[in-house]
Amino acid sequence: MSTTPNGVHALVRRSHEERVLRVLRQNGAQSRNEIAARVGLSRTTVSEITSDLLGRGAIRVVDTDAVERVGSGRPAERLALDPASGQYMGVDFGHRRVNVLVADAAHDIIASGTARYEESAQWPERLDAGLALIDRLSAETGVHYGALQAIGIGVPGWGDRSRADGVAEVFAERFHAAVIVDNNVRFAGLAEALHAQSDTVRNLIYLRLSVGVGGGLVVGGQLVRGSKGYAGELGHVTAVPGGARCRCGKRGCVETVASVPAILGRCRELGVPADTLEDLKAAVEIAHPVVDQVLREAGTAVGQVLGTAAMTLNPDEIVLGGEIIEIAPALLRQVADTVTYELSWRTDAAPVIRPALLSDDGGARGAIAALFHESPLLAGYEANVTTDGGR
Ligand SMILES: [Zn+2]
Repeated sequence: MSTTPNGVHALVRRSHEERVLRVLRQNGAQSRNEIAARVGLSRTTVSEITSDLLGRGAIRVVDTDAVERVGSGRPAERLALDPASGQYMGVDFGHRRVNVLVADAAHDIIASGTARYEESAQWPERLDAGLALIDRLSAETGVHYGALQAIGIGVPGWGDRSRADGVAEVFAERFHAAVIVDNNVRFAGLAEALHAQSDTVRNLIYLRLSVGVGGGLVVGGQLVRGSKGYAGELGHVTAVPGGARCRCGKRGCVETVASVPAILGRCRELGVPADTLEDLKAAVEIAHPVVDQVLREAGTAVGQVLGTAAMTLNPDEIVLGGEIIEIAPALLRQVADTVTYELSWRTDAAPVIRPALLSDDGGARGAIAALFHESPLLAGYEANVTTDGGR
């Protein structure tokens, strides 16, 4: 292989270009200064590279940072991958609804919607609802999915490979695009880590308390799946040895004390008529002492498990999601107090503990983010862009 100075120069240049394109693919529109900071190249080098990429049509000026800019300097142009060069679809099948988001290569959401189904709906019905929604969005927005590069699909539960493969096959056949399928709670965790918009939140533990308790780990800015895909399933860590039977077959899992049905059930056991989250909300609003006690018990169990997980991973943030976190602040407080206690021997090890910030579409957002961030499906994508317009 030739190692002439010219050849070496071209290789270095190519590697710099790839780094700039990767930053734009992963982060969406960025100013030249932001790009320079993220890739660790000088502002001058980045200007040369972006000017070349702009000339070849691989990237575009999408807007300026005038809106968010503080101070009086000239607004800086923001650059992004050519929006028309690709579309990315995120789909999140929940227990009662499917969310769909479609983003262009510049990360702008160009279509989004939700369709509902009964919790008892089987997979064929859920898939039909999702595909009908995708058709409806196309009719409404004029987005025809012609440039669809990849689809990320979140599904509830864990470990059911045959169902995941079935879902992937239906979408791959329909759209002729690469498909990844993963747990939707895990995708929501990735979305929370990226939503922080700060490079300091690279390590995060996400836990969602809902009908079940699911979780996800983001380490070094990437989702962690582990060897068989169970990483972050903290809902099935034992919290109460010999406790209530869990749907996983064990006893006393976190899910048996901190899922929504478990918390409502415990309230009823202690004589508080709480059949729904609305009932619980009403009891919280009058500061019912028994409900407060139940929430503290659940928060302590969750906090002890998260404290152990935090010592294992030393995350920047622990994020709790699920409707019950919004309506019962005592629960999050007790989790935070417990984690802080567990880590009190190293106060600087304590992470930020906060409620989830993203709404119900976090799973679909995270699915798209996973496509942009880590998918080997897009390995050839940068090459496609850089050869556009040839030279
Ligand atoms: Zn369990």
